[in-house]
Amino acid sequence: MNTYRCAVIGNPIAHSQSPALHEQFAREAGISLIYDKILSPLEDFETIVRDFFAKSPDTLPIHCGLNITLPFKVRAYQLAEQHTDHAQHAGAVNTFYLNAKHQLVGDNTDGIGLCRALMQHGYSLKNKRMLLLGAGGAARGALYPLLQAGVRELSLSNRTLSKAQQLIKPYQSQFPITLLTPEDFSTSAPFDFIINATSAGLHDETFTLPTPLIHRQTYCYDMVYGKPTAFLRWAAQHHLPHHDGYSMLVAQARESFARWFGSSSF
Ligand code: NAP
Repeated sequence: MNTYRCAVIGNPIAHSQSPALHEQFAREAGISLIYDKILSPLEDFETIVRDFFAKSPDTLPIHCGLNITLPFKVRAYQLAEQHTDHAQHAGAVNTFYLNAKHQLVGDNTDGIGLCRALMQHGYSLKNKRMLLLGAGGAARGALYPLLQAGVRELSLSNRTLSKAQQLIKPYQSQFPITLLTPEDFSTSAPFDFIINATSAGLHDETFTLPTPLIHRQTYCYDMVYGKPTAFLRWAAQHHLPHHDGYSMLVAQARESFARWFGSSSF
Protein backbone atom coordinates (compact mmCIF):
# COMPACT_ATOMS: atom_id res chain seq x y z
CA MET A 1 0.00 0.00 0.00
CA ASN A 2 1.29 3.50 -0.88
CA THR A 3 1.92 5.95 1.92
CA TYR A 4 0.96 9.59 1.29
CA ARG A 5 2.21 12.77 2.90
CA CYS A 6 0.12 15.91 3.35
CA ALA A 7 0.55 18.88 5.67
CA VAL A 8 -0.91 22.15 6.85
CA ILE A 9 1.31 25.20 6.57
CA GLY A 10 0.86 28.41 8.54
CA ASN A 11 2.33 30.74 11.14
CA PRO A 12 1.46 30.08 13.93
CA ILE A 13 0.51 26.44 13.44
CA ALA A 14 0.73 24.68 16.82
CA HIS A 15 -3.04 25.10 17.43
CA SER A 16 -4.07 23.49 14.12
CA GLN A 17 -6.58 20.65 14.34
CA SER A 18 -6.02 19.64 10.71
CA PRO A 19 -3.67 16.68 11.46
CA ALA A 20 -6.21 15.03 13.80
CA LEU A 21 -9.05 15.55 11.29
CA HIS A 22 -7.14 14.24 8.27
CA GLU A 23 -5.72 11.27 10.18
CA GLN A 24 -9.31 10.38 11.11
CA PHE A 25 -10.48 10.67 7.46
CA ALA A 26 -7.52 8.52 6.34
CA ARG A 27 -8.38 5.83 8.90
CA GLU A 28 -12.01 5.85 7.70
CA ALA A 29 -10.86 5.55 4.07
CA GLY A 30 -8.15 2.93 4.72
CA ILE A 31 -5.43 5.26 3.41
CA SER A 32 -1.91 5.32 4.86
CA LEU A 33 -1.32 9.04 5.50
CA ILE A 34 1.33 11.06 7.27
CA TYR A 35 -0.06 14.56 7.93
CA ASP A 36 2.33 17.18 9.35
CA LYS A 37 2.16 20.73 10.64
CA ILE A 38 4.65 23.03 8.95
CA LEU A 39 5.54 26.27 10.70
CA SER A 40 6.66 28.53 7.89
CA PRO A 41 8.78 31.62 8.55
CA LEU A 42 6.99 34.50 6.83
CA GLU A 43 9.64 34.88 4.11
CA ASP A 44 9.91 31.16 3.28
CA PHE A 45 6.32 30.23 2.40
CA GLU A 46 6.73 29.95 -1.39
CA THR A 47 10.01 28.00 -1.12
CA ILE A 48 8.56 25.52 1.36
CA VAL A 49 5.51 24.89 -0.86
CA ARG A 50 7.64 24.42 -4.00
CA ASP A 51 10.02 22.07 -2.15
CA PHE A 52 7.12 20.03 -0.81
CA PHE A 53 5.70 19.34 -4.27
CA ALA A 54 9.12 18.99 -5.93
CA LYS A 55 9.60 15.60 -4.28
CA SER A 56 9.65 12.99 -6.99
CA PRO A 57 6.34 11.18 -7.39
CA ASP A 58 8.36 7.94 -7.33
CA THR A 59 9.64 8.48 -3.80
CA LEU A 60 7.60 7.44 -0.81
CA PRO A 61 5.70 8.86 0.92
CA ILE A 62 3.89 10.47 -2.03
CA HIS A 63 3.60 14.22 -1.39
CA CYS A 64 0.07 14.88 -2.52
CA GLY A 65 -1.52 17.85 -0.77
CA LEU A 66 -1.12 20.93 1.40
CA ASN A 67 -3.58 22.93 3.45
CA ILE A 68 -2.85 26.60 3.84
CA THR A 69 -3.85 28.64 6.84
CA LEU A 70 -3.25 32.15 8.19
CA PRO A 71 -1.49 34.30 7.14
CA PHE A 72 -0.69 32.67 3.80
CA LYS A 73 -4.04 32.13 2.02
CA VAL A 74 -3.69 35.12 -0.31
CA ARG A 75 -0.02 34.40 -1.05
CA ALA A 76 -1.06 30.82 -1.81
CA TYR A 77 -3.52 32.21 -4.34
CA GLN A 78 -0.70 34.17 -5.99
CA LEU A 79 1.55 31.11 -6.02
CA ALA A 80 -0.97 28.74 -7.63
CA GLU A 81 -0.53 28.05 -11.34
CA GLN A 82 -4.18 27.10 -11.76
CA HIS A 83 -7.20 28.13 -9.71
CA THR A 84 -10.51 26.41 -9.14
CA ASP A 85 -13.69 28.44 -9.44
CA HIS A 86 -14.02 28.68 -5.67
CA ALA A 87 -10.44 29.88 -5.23
CA GLN A 88 -10.95 32.46 -7.97
CA HIS A 89 -14.02 33.89 -6.25
CA ALA A 90 -12.41 33.79 -2.80
CA GLY A 91 -9.13 35.31 -4.01
CA ALA A 92 -7.52 32.94 -1.52
CA VAL A 93 -6.38 29.33 -1.41
CA ASN A 94 -6.58 26.84 1.46
CA THR A 95 -5.83 23.65 -0.50
CA PHE A 96 -3.02 22.78 -2.89
CA TYR A 97 -2.54 19.75 -5.10
CA LEU A 98 -0.88 18.99 -8.44
CA ASN A 99 -2.79 18.42 -11.67
CA ALA A 100 -1.85 15.85 -14.32
CA LYS A 101 0.61 18.36 -15.85
CA HIS A 102 2.29 18.77 -12.45
CA GLN A 103 0.99 22.33 -12.11
CA LEU A 104 0.13 23.65 -8.67
CA VAL A 105 -3.66 23.87 -8.34
CA GLY A 106 -5.10 26.24 -5.73
CA ASP A 107 -8.56 25.51 -4.37
CA ASN A 108 -10.65 27.00 -1.58
CA THR A 109 -12.92 24.66 0.39
CA ASP A 110 -13.94 27.06 3.19
CA GLY A 111 -17.20 28.26 1.63
CA ILE A 112 -18.32 24.89 0.38
CA GLY A 113 -17.41 23.54 3.84
CA LEU A 114 -19.76 26.11 5.38
CA CYS A 115 -22.60 25.10 3.03
CA ARG A 116 -22.03 21.40 3.83
CA ALA A 117 -21.96 22.14 7.57
CA LEU A 118 -25.30 23.99 7.38
CA MET A 119 -26.78 21.05 5.47
CA GLN A 120 -25.44 18.62 8.09
CA HIS A 121 -27.19 20.67 10.77
CA GLY A 122 -30.40 20.10 8.79
CA TYR A 123 -30.74 23.46 7.01
CA SER A 124 -31.39 24.04 3.33
CA LEU A 125 -30.36 27.43 1.95
CA LYS A 126 -32.69 27.34 -1.01
CA ASN A 127 -35.00 30.35 -1.15
CA LYS A 128 -33.91 31.59 2.26
CA ARG A 129 -33.08 35.12 3.35
CA MET A 130 -29.58 35.33 4.73
CA LEU A 131 -27.59 37.96 6.58
CA LEU A 132 -23.82 37.56 6.33
CA LEU A 133 -21.80 39.59 8.84
CA GLY A 134 -18.23 40.49 7.88
CA ALA A 135 -16.26 41.33 4.76
CA GLY A 136 -12.87 39.77 5.49
CA GLY A 137 -11.33 36.63 4.03
CA ALA A 138 -13.87 34.26 5.58
CA ALA A 139 -16.87 36.21 4.23
CA ARG A 140 -15.26 36.49 0.82
CA GLY A 141 -14.65 32.72 0.71
CA ALA A 142 -18.24 32.00 1.72
CA LEU A 143 -20.04 34.43 -0.57
CA TYR A 144 -20.00 32.61 -3.90
CA PRO A 145 -20.84 29.12 -2.53
CA LEU A 146 -23.73 30.64 -0.50
CA LEU A 147 -25.09 32.46 -3.56
CA GLN A 148 -24.73 29.31 -5.64
CA ALA A 149 -26.67 27.36 -3.04
CA GLY A 150 -29.77 29.28 -4.13
CA VAL A 151 -30.49 31.75 -1.33
CA ARG A 152 -33.42 34.03 -2.14
CA GLU A 153 -31.59 37.08 -0.85
CA LEU A 154 -28.20 37.63 0.75
CA SER A 155 -27.55 40.82 2.68
CA LEU A 156 -24.02 41.70 3.66
CA SER A 157 -23.21 43.88 6.65
CA ASN A 158 -19.80 44.94 7.88
CA ARG A 159 -18.32 47.40 10.35
CA THR A 160 -16.34 49.02 7.53
CA LEU A 161 -19.03 49.64 4.95
CA SER A 162 -16.70 50.30 2.03
CA LYS A 163 -15.26 46.77 2.32
CA ALA A 164 -18.73 45.25 2.11
CA GLN A 165 -19.58 47.45 -0.88
CA GLN A 166 -16.45 46.31 -2.66
CA LEU A 167 -17.16 42.66 -1.90
CA ILE A 168 -20.69 42.55 -3.27
CA LYS A 169 -19.98 44.62 -6.40
CA PRO A 170 -18.93 41.79 -8.76
CA TYR A 171 -22.02 39.74 -7.83
CA GLN A 172 -24.77 42.36 -7.91
CA SER A 173 -25.71 41.97 -11.56
CA GLN A 174 -26.01 38.20 -11.30
CA PHE A 175 -27.24 37.40 -7.79
CA PRO A 176 -29.76 38.75 -5.26
CA ILE A 177 -27.19 40.40 -3.02
CA THR A 178 -27.54 43.69 -1.16
CA LEU A 179 -25.71 45.80 1.35
CA LEU A 180 -27.33 46.12 4.77
CA THR A 181 -26.33 49.26 6.66
CA PRO A 182 -27.24 49.99 10.31
CA GLU A 183 -29.78 52.52 8.94
CA ASP A 184 -31.58 49.64 7.17
CA PHE A 185 -31.87 47.52 10.33
CA SER A 186 -35.22 48.91 11.44
CA THR A 187 -36.90 48.46 8.04
CA SER A 188 -35.46 45.11 6.98
CA ALA A 189 -37.59 41.96 6.99
CA PRO A 190 -36.39 39.19 9.33
CA PHE A 191 -33.69 36.76 8.16
CA ASP A 192 -33.84 32.96 8.12
CA PHE A 193 -30.07 32.72 8.60
CA ILE A 194 -27.48 34.95 10.23
CA ILE A 195 -23.90 33.87 9.57
CA ASN A 196 -21.18 35.59 11.55
CA ALA A 197 -17.98 35.72 9.51
CA THR A 198 -16.33 38.38 11.65
CA SER A 199 -13.53 37.78 14.12
CA ALA A 200 -15.32 39.96 16.69
CA GLY A 201 -16.12 36.98 18.91
CA LEU A 202 -12.44 36.37 19.51
CA HIS A 203 -12.24 39.47 21.65
CA ASP A 204 -15.11 38.83 24.08
CA GLU A 205 -17.06 41.83 22.85
CA THR A 206 -20.78 42.33 23.25
CA PHE A 207 -23.06 41.69 20.30
CA THR A 208 -26.54 42.83 19.50
CA LEU A 209 -28.87 43.13 16.51
CA PRO A 210 -32.35 44.68 16.51
CA THR A 211 -35.05 42.05 16.99
CA PRO A 212 -36.96 42.96 13.77
CA LEU A 213 -34.08 41.19 11.97
CA ILE A 214 -34.96 37.80 13.49
CA HIS A 215 -37.93 35.48 13.68
CA ARG A 216 -38.43 32.54 16.06
CA GLN A 217 -36.50 30.12 13.84
CA THR A 218 -33.66 32.35 12.62
CA TYR A 219 -30.64 30.07 12.52
CA CYS A 220 -27.38 31.59 13.76
CA TYR A 221 -23.96 30.27 12.80
CA ASP A 222 -20.62 31.63 13.97
CA MET A 223 -17.56 30.67 11.94
CA VAL A 224 -15.45 31.05 15.09
CA TYR A 225 -15.22 27.81 17.04
CA GLY A 226 -13.95 26.61 20.39
CA LYS A 227 -15.52 29.31 22.55
CA PRO A 228 -18.99 30.74 23.14
CA THR A 229 -18.77 34.03 21.24
CA ALA A 230 -20.82 37.12 22.02
CA PHE A 231 -22.86 36.42 18.87
CA LEU A 232 -23.74 32.89 20.00
CA ARG A 233 -24.55 34.11 23.50
CA TRP A 234 -26.90 36.67 21.93
CA ALA A 235 -28.53 33.90 19.84
CA ALA A 236 -28.98 31.74 22.95
CA GLN A 237 -30.53 34.66 24.87
CA HIS A 238 -33.11 34.98 22.07
CA HIS A 239 -33.72 31.21 22.04
CA LEU A 240 -32.52 30.93 18.44
CA PRO A 241 -31.01 27.70 17.05
CA HIS A 242 -27.24 28.13 16.72
CA HIS A 243 -23.89 26.40 16.20
CA ASP A 244 -20.24 27.41 16.26
CA GLY A 245 -17.82 26.96 13.35
CA TYR A 246 -16.39 23.57 14.29
CA SER A 247 -18.64 21.77 11.80
CA MET A 248 -17.36 24.12 9.07
CA LEU A 249 -13.78 23.35 10.05
CA VAL A 250 -14.45 19.61 9.73
CA ALA A 251 -16.40 19.99 6.48
CA GLN A 252 -13.76 22.16 4.75
CA ALA A 253 -11.11 19.61 5.78
CA ARG A 254 -13.23 16.78 4.36
CA GLU A 255 -13.53 18.69 1.08
CA SER A 256 -9.72 19.09 0.93
CA PHE A 257 -9.24 15.40 1.65
CA ALA A 258 -11.67 14.60 -1.17
CA ARG A 259 -9.62 16.74 -3.59
CA TRP A 260 -6.53 14.64 -2.77
CA PHE A 261 -8.01 11.16 -2.47
CA GLY A 262 -11.39 11.36 -4.22
CA SER A 263 -14.83 11.73 -2.68
CA SER A 264 -15.31 7.97 -3.06
CA SER A 265 -12.93 7.65 -0.07
CA PHE A 266 -15.87 8.52 2.20
P1 NAP B 1 -10.32 38.97 8.57
O1 NAP B 1 -10.03 38.86 7.13
O2 NAP B 1 -9.33 39.56 9.49
O3 NAP B 1 -11.71 39.77 8.68
C1 NAP B 1 -12.23 40.11 9.95
C2 NAP B 1 -13.67 40.57 9.81
O4 NAP B 1 -14.20 40.74 11.13
C3 NAP B 1 -13.83 41.90 9.09
O5 NAP B 1 -15.05 41.92 8.42
C4 NAP B 1 -13.84 42.89 10.28
O6 NAP B 1 -14.51 44.10 10.00
C5 NAP B 1 -14.64 42.11 11.28
N1 NAP B 1 -14.39 42.51 12.67
C6 NAP B 1 -13.27 42.34 13.39
N2 NAP B 1 -13.42 42.82 14.63
C7 NAP B 1 -14.69 43.34 14.69
C8 NAP B 1 -15.45 43.99 15.69
N3 NAP B 1 -14.94 44.22 16.90
N4 NAP B 1 -16.71 44.35 15.42
C9 NAP B 1 -17.24 44.09 14.17
N5 NAP B 1 -16.58 43.51 13.18
C10 NAP B 1 -15.32 43.12 13.44
O7 NAP B 1 -10.64 37.53 9.21
P2 NAP B 1 -11.28 36.28 8.43
O8 NAP B 1 -10.20 35.49 7.79
O9 NAP B 1 -12.41 36.79 7.60
O10 NAP B 1 -11.83 35.38 9.63
C11 NAP B 1 -12.98 35.74 10.38
C12 NAP B 1 -13.26 34.66 11.41
O11 NAP B 1 -13.71 33.46 10.77
C13 NAP B 1 -12.00 34.27 12.20
O12 NAP B 1 -12.33 34.30 13.57
C14 NAP B 1 -11.68 32.86 11.76
O13 NAP B 1 -11.18 32.07 12.82
C15 NAP B 1 -13.05 32.33 11.33
N6 NAP B 1 -12.94 31.27 10.30
C16 NAP B 1 -13.40 30.04 10.62
C17 NAP B 1 -13.33 29.02 9.68
C18 NAP B 1 -13.85 27.65 10.03
O14 NAP B 1 -13.50 26.68 9.35
N7 NAP B 1 -14.71 27.54 11.03
C19 NAP B 1 -12.78 29.26 8.40
C20 NAP B 1 -12.32 30.56 8.10
C21 NAP B 1 -12.40 31.56 9.07
P3 NAP B 1 -13.73 45.34 9.33
O15 NAP B 1 -13.71 45.07 7.85
O16 NAP B 1 -14.54 46.52 9.69
O17 NAP B 1 -12.35 45.37 9.93
